[in-house]
Amino acid sequence: MDLQALIDEIAEDLLRVEDRGQVANYIPELAKIDARKFAIAIATLDGASYSTGDAREPFSIQSISKVFALALALGKVGDGLWNRVRREPSGSAFNSIVQLEHEHGIPRNPFINAGAIVVADVILAGHQPREAIGEILRFVRVAANDDTIRINPAVSRSEQEAGFRNAALANYMRSFGNIKNPVEMTLGVYFHQCAVEMTCIQLAQAGLFLANGGRDPTTGISVISADRARRINALMLTCGHYDGSGDFAFKVGLPGKSGVGGGILAVVPGRASIAVWSPGLNRQGNSLLGTRALELIAQRTNWSVFGP
Ligand code: GLN
Repeated sequence: MDLQALIDEIAEDLLRVEDRGQVANYIPELAKIDARKFAIAIATLDGASYSTGDAREPFSIQSISKVFALALALGKVGDGLWNRVRREPSGSAFNSIVQLEHEHGIPRNPFINAGAIVVADVILAGHQPREAIGEILRFVRVAANDDTIRINPAVSRSEQEAGFRNAALANYMRSFGNIKNPVEMTLGVYFHQCAVEMTCIQLAQAGLFLANGGRDPTTGISVISADRARRINALMLTCGHYDGSGDFAFKVGLPGKSGVGGGILAVVPGRASIAVWSPGLNRQGNSLLGTRALELIAQRTNWSVFGP
């Protein structure tokens, strides 16, 4: 299979699509992004990489950061994390507050905002926010094998200023004792991790350890255990696209995590890691054309976790 020809062809076909979804506008800094941006990058376990479109342009990874933060938090507190966040699909929006009351401040999973805020709180324990943010950034840089990756301060500030929902979630969980640090500090960590910027090429590289039993095949570094990598993939498949997770599993058939910046990271266990970027979102807040691109890649390569 000529992967380069495949993604070039998909990029060209999707160029003609008129309906590109809606760029996230509740974070003012993200609303400025050109909806016509588009990129695909694939990194394979044998060290090859392929890319097309705006694959060298950094974008806000937003909720894709929740995958790296989860891996880091599990490394810190192990399975004790599951006392504070569950592992079930939520069936509701990424920033929904409604289940939290019934479920006593324990979020459904680590990929909805409430769950990711708990994960940020775990990473913050015993540190200053600056150190916790540094630790997350370091983890991403090691995974991507690239020290140039940065946090965009304008984006984290923009989120902080517009983050009323996230503040509500964090305060609500704090009232149940499931946020241990001062709410503004935990939110500071969360907003900064969401403001990490990466290119599709960097992101595809950073996802490789999840396709390879926790070990980065290019550097040989063991990032997490094989067991944890499998479980993070399971959570990506069941919860990575919020209330669109079932449809993503149906159409694409791979573990994936989306972000409101329009990026998606998809993992092909034993084979490859794929990053796509198209800023326009569907109703569930997942990249519209990014999902379509992954669907076409999966279809034409027969890559799926559900069989050949
Ligand atoms: N930073 C965004 C938020 O908290 C992340 C949401 C997302 O990417 N789905 O709203």
